[in-house]
This record gives sequence, C-alpha cells and structure tokens, in this order.
Amino acid sequence: MFSYSLKIPYLYTKLFPSVIHRKEVSGKKIFLSFDDGPHPEITPRVLTLLDKYNAKATFFCLGKNLVENPNIAQMIIQGGHRLGNHTFTHENAWKIKFGEYINSIEKTQKIINELNPSTENIFRPPYGKITPAIANILKEKEYQVFLWSWILGDYKKNIHIDKVLKKLIHTIQPGDILVLHDQPKSFENLKIMLPKLLYLLSKQGYIFEKL
Ligand SMILES: [Zn+2]
Repeated sequence: MFSYSLKIPYLYTKLFPSVIHRKEVSGKKIFLSFDDGPHPEITPRVLTLLDKYNAKATFFCLGKNLVENPNIAQMIIQGGHRLGNHTFTHENAWKIKFGEYINSIEKTQKIINELNPSTENIFRPPYGKITPAIANILKEKEYQVFLWSWILGDYKKNIHIDKVLKKLIHTIQPGDILVLHDQPKSFENLKIMLPKLLYLLSKQGYIFEKL
C-alpha cells in the first residue's frame, strides 16, 4: 500500500504561489529531476540511462557534493542537463535560522554559477520544506523555486515499483515534474525504476526535458 502521497498536496500549492510544481507546456513533455547528488558512481549511471532515451533532466545538487565531485557536475552540464540548487548540506528550512539557510543557498549558487555561468538560478528546498519568508526573499533574488508534481518514493524501503509506475503512467500529464534521487539511499530502487519509467513514458510518446 502507499503510505505516502505521490502527488503534492493542493493546499501547499495555494500557500506558496511562487513555488512551481508543474509547468505549462505544448506537446507531451515531462520534467525529470534528481535530487541530492552529484554522486561519483550513481550520477554517471543515471546519465547513461538518460542518454539512451535522449532524455534531458535537472539535477538539484548539494553544494558540498558539487565541491567533492566537480567532474561529475561537468558531466551533467556537458550532457545537456541542468544544475539546480538544493542547499549546501541538505538543510531543513523549518529547523535552522533564516540567515543560515539563505547563506547555504547562496554559497551553493556561487559554485553552480562558477561551473555554468549562463544558468538562471533554480532552487528546490530539501524535504520540500519552505517558509513564506524564504519564498519571498528567493523571489526577490530571482530564484525560481521548484517542487514537484510527483514524488516517486525511490528512497523508501518497501516500495512496490510496478504499482507506483502503473499509477504514474495512468495519471501523468504533460508538464508534470517528477522527483527522483541520485544518492545511495535510493539507488536500489532507482536502478530498477528509472529504466522502466523511461521506457514506459517514451512508449506513450513523452519526451523528457530539463526545467
Ligand atoms: Zn533532497
């Protein structure tokens, strides 16, 4: 059984109108995103899978992982994908001081801008947690904040992958944003889930674009 929600709560989207959870698109476009990397082994495997389907994706990276794996970050950029900001060390916006949280974002953005100077600032808060004050200041600083339409639970231990995918392919809509993770905790599920997901959605005529 699903013990978590696959889709983001409606109320959340009303509380934070500047936070994007899906995009208006023309055609059958889907946005895949991968959080918490880059990871030296897992991210390259994700990139190889994406290439098989000519899929582009967005990687919401931790600043500390970018510092540790700049070559993997370059692989993401060279592959035509997009780097996004996911704080420096996966801070929880509800638990740390406002100033510290903003510093963590800006420190990470500086690293991203050094790796890819032409990029616009995009951010995803860890745990999907944000506050009105943070949403406001990020808007002022011209960050686009992205959550997701679908969280597929790749980090869960007892996940029934085929059930999750069945529900997804029956209700997904063009413009939906999917979140997965390129980190060790999720990899057992991701390595099964991602090839199936790419195959099934491609078969339905979907193409995968970066945000
Ligand atoms: Zn995360």
